[in-house]
Amino acid sequence: MSMELPFAESYKIKMVENIYRSTRKEREAWIATAKYNLFNLRSEQVYIDLLTDSGTGAMSDQQWGALMVGDESYAGSRSYYNFKNAVKNILGYDYVLPTHQGRAAENVLFSQLVKNGDIVPGNSHFDTTKGHIEFRKATAIDCTVDEAFDTMSECKFKGNLDLTKLEDVLKKYPKEKIPFIIVTVTNNTAGGQPVSLQNIKDVSALAKKYGIPVLFDSARFAENAYFIKVREEQYKDMSIKEIVLEMFKYADMMTMSSKKDAIVNMGGFIAFRSQELYRACCVFNIMFEGYVTYGGMSGRDMNALAVGLDEGTDFNYLETRIKQVEYLFALLDGYGIPCQRPAGGHAIFVDAKKMLPNLPKEHFIAQTLGIELYLEAGIRGVEIGALLADRDPITRIDRYPKLELLRLAIPRRTYTNNHMEVIAAALNNIYQRRESITKGYEIVYEAPIMRHFTVELAPKK
Ligand SMILES: *Cc1c(COP(=O)(O)O)cnc(C)c1O
Repeated sequence: MSMELPFAESYKIKMVENIYRSTRKEREAWIATAKYNLFNLRSEQVYIDLLTDSGTGAMSDQQWGALMVGDESYAGSRSYYNFKNAVKNILGYDYVLPTHQGRAAENVLFSQLVKNGDIVPGNSHFDTTKGHIEFRKATAIDCTVDEAFDTMSECKFKGNLDLTKLEDVLKKYPKEKIPFIIVTVTNNTAGGQPVSLQNIKDVSALAKKYGIPVLFDSARFAENAYFIKVREEQYKDMSIKEIVLEMFKYADMMTMSSKKDAIVNMGGFIAFRSQELYRACCVFNIMFEGYVTYGGMSGRDMNALAVGLDEGTDFNYLETRIKQVEYLFALLDGYGIPCQRPAGGHAIFVDAKKMLPNLPKEHFIAQTLGIELYLEAGIRGVEIGALLADRDPITRIDRYPKLELLRLAIPRRTYTNNHMEVIAAALNNIYQRRESITKGYEIVYEAPIMRHFTVELAPKK
């Protein structure tokens, strides 16, 4: 009888970067010098870096080739037209503005659309998205389905918007107060969880009923399309590129961080259906980013981005990518380590409260787990817990979130499954001695906002 062939990567490796496997003693010194803040480590002090999947992926030979033939003309470069054509062909939009990254796209678009006192409903607005809303004295209202907050529930589309919560917002405020509804695909904050095409259609129908435009925050749109293909029965025979076009039909505009699913190290854009809105945003783009045919990007980078959009929406690539995340999830699950279920598109979210049951919340549970993992194996994740949640801006009281998560983001095409095995084994070692971890960390310095980036900690006495 012939064996079923195992699954393997849809690419081979042409260039490598050496990484250093440090000793525990070295790491103890380095993390103390870094004041127990993982952002303060030098990358050379990290063996496997899972801080983010943003801009950390490996470009392909085709992308590096495209880089070499970039056109650096100030206006109307070939590279701009390559990029514009890719956006038209893959996403279906006629109008596009390049920006230097995703938050810059938000800044330009929101400068035109978001006003003091506005309300912006959506599914778990990303930090910079929320930042750009709140900076304009508007309010972001989270309408994510409740299943997203139960790490043990096996819901297939935990990224979805709850239609009742959404309609309540649309009913409560006048149309003029709601510039758009944001659909984040995939829902990063809820654990890289997808939004179903059905939900996208339902949100679009509600939006039409109330006369409000829909904005897709699209950083991981291709991973979302993969989940639609493999989890939403009626779309299983459609190609990823067909699903992507179908998804974007329901959005009036999109902001993109190209550092995610377009597999480049830097870049972003805004795409529009409306020429009028595009024209209005051109002014802000020229002021904040650059002329409308480069907007903060080099010609070569727009060339690499055009190729990246095409490669990032290839089924074989996406299958390799998401199966690697699922592989890590299966190893952790096998050890009994509690994680957000099912595995997300770009990351594993370890449920730190369940992982370290004897640690009080005042000791910063997810951060403590992050430090333990670094000490154990030189692996760097990121805290999504009380440090990130910060203090209430008015009362200055610590906001302890429902979930304390350690996010392990997997860069695209960067690590092998052997690295995934190291990560799982290291977490299992911590899990085995979880009862003995009774002390975490306390803050010795914090900035007035966004403290998690620069916070300094010391072991709790
Ligand atoms: C990364 C990200 C952004 C911001 O993009 P940057 O390129 O980091 O500025 C916005 N929304 C989502 C969902 C993201 O993941």
